[in-house]
Amino acid sequence: MIVIIKKGTIEVTTCNTCGCKFSYEKEDVKNGDTDNYKRWKEYVVCPQCSCEVIIKQTR
Ligand SMILES: [Zn+2]
Repeated sequence: MIVIIKKGTIEVTTCNTCGCKFSYEKEDVKNGDTDNYKRWKEYVVCPQCSCEVIIKQTR
């Protein structure tokens, strides 16, 4: 029987700015405020163009 000892945390996303597809782990996700101070966002930095790629964002 195959059992997962530890679940993988690597995820893949695509940068909307340059189209770069890259993988990231939880450690790479950063938190930040958006222009509206009541909101926050989770993002990773694109390795190719250094743009912020939003993973999650409050409305
Ligand atoms: Zn990019």
